[in-house]
Amino acid sequence: MGKQTRYIFVTGGVLSGVGKGITAASIGAVLKAKGLSVSIQKCDPYLNVDAGLLNPAEHGECFVTKDGAETDLDLGHYERFLDDEFTKKSATLSGRLLRDLIADERAGKFGGKTIQLVPHLTGAIMESIVEASQGSDVHIVEIGGTVGDYEGLSFVEAIREFGRRVGRENSLYIHVVYVPFIGTSKEFKSKPAQNALNDLRGFGIVPDVVVVRTDEPAPKAIRSKIAMFGGVEEGAVLMMPNVDSVFKIPGIVAESSLAPILEKFTGNHNKPDLSKWHDLVKRQQAPKEQTITVGLIAKYMDNEDTYISVLEALKAAAWSEGVGLRIEWISAEEVNEEALSAVDAILVPGGFGVRGVEGKIAAANYALSHNKPYLGICLGLQVAVIAAARKAGLEGANSTEFDESTPHPVVYIMEGQEGKESTGGTLRLGDYPAHLAANSLAHTVYGEQDIVERHRHRYEVNQKYREAIERGGLVISGASPDGKLVEFVEASDHPYFIATQAHPEFRSRPTRPHPLFLGLIRAAQS
Ligand code: GLN
Repeated sequence: MGKQTRYIFVTGGVLSGVGKGITAASIGAVLKAKGLSVSIQKCDPYLNVDAGLLNPAEHGECFVTKDGAETDLDLGHYERFLDDEFTKKSATLSGRLLRDLIADERAGKFGGKTIQLVPHLTGAIMESIVEASQGSDVHIVEIGGTVGDYEGLSFVEAIREFGRRVGRENSLYIHVVYVPFIGTSKEFKSKPAQNALNDLRGFGIVPDVVVVRTDEPAPKAIRSKIAMFGGVEEGAVLMMPNVDSVFKIPGIVAESSLAPILEKFTGNHNKPDLSKWHDLVKRQQAPKEQTITVGLIAKYMDNEDTYISVLEALKAAAWSEGVGLRIEWISAEEVNEEALSAVDAILVPGGFGVRGVEGKIAAANYALSHNKPYLGICLGLQVAVIAAARKAGLEGANSTEFDESTPHPVVYIMEGQEGKESTGGTLRLGDYPAHLAANSLAHTVYGEQDIVERHRHRYEVNQKYREAIERGGLVISGASPDGKLVEFVEASDHPYFIATQAHPEFRSRPTRPHPLFLGLIRAAQS
């Protein structure tokens, strides 16, 4: 018989968006630092089949796993905190489970039975938990939204049943609640949290641990009250006021009264080695002699969640270089030379659709012509290619995504892909290898010639225009191993101008910055 996996279920009450994902990921980081193998899974109750079509302005970035799943940004937190790569098994959405269930029903797989949320959907949820947890010592399951949401009820029921199935000693329920501070009366109010705990109990789950999120540190009385109403020991209530760096949270968890609870639960008495997180926080908070300003050419303004992995990758590079970082949000629709000249480096992130694209092309053109360090990501590569082609005299050069009748389709849908572009099924997703040209900037930056990066895009550089693109100042420095797909372009006569068709931000880690971002921050310092 294999080893027994232990399960930690993280639910939320009062409101969503108070750091349930970071809490789950930090607990995972502590357990991993104890030497345990940890897997983690996000269950999203909304009815989408994946996160691919969600509006990033509303929902934040779409994170892509190595096997090509388009997921919620929480998977990004998980990968950054656990320094691991997860798969589509770690992203469970109601929509997909329901779709599969209905397809099975249509295929007659249920032999005439009535198909119901309980036990069929709950059964599918439990199966997905078993699948995602294979081989781990501890598997963490975070349920999106808050307990009591209509959509989430099947998930709450599924984790309740699951706990019974694997045994109460192998399951730990953590409920994350929010306690607001009322400015007018100057007091913390625990009533919504008490109600949230009642709700959870109403669904048959008695929590083992309650995490209390507050904006400021709350008085002890709040902890006692929550313990009493939650039916847990005071030691099982973890007070979590906001902190200035989320990377302090693994350390806070490890020092808290949660530590002995986790120790007992896992049977692992090792002291977690959290030195990399402590070092990171130290580096983050050390005084900086220089601050680098990176101009982010953004389509969605001032919404950090939309570009969270890109921002985290930039920060990681700056911490590692010991410099401060300032992000200058430049609206893609209002790009102007003054704004571009004022920053130390320019980053054009991925994007879809025509809005703001001319501004992104202008930003790439400016960086190319003014020796300004530039990193182009996905669409950021495509606009650089368009800028180079136009520079070479190909008037009206464009991507067919933005101008179907362009005379010079330098970025296009490749043969065999035409006509499928609206089906949502033709994106190139997940890990793809690239071979980098010897002694190119890409090769120097990566330190190797054969690399793998994650992708999420549909259009490709049209290599018929290779010569014009070169005349415009860019060389193709990386391609798919068969040479068909352009993966990297760079300017040879430039301090740092590089763009990739991939999304390197997904592989950057707080303590292991990605070389392309590191290169940008280094170039921006001189
Ligand atoms: N819209 C472009 C494409 O589909 C770029 C996508 C992206 O930047 N992720 O190819």
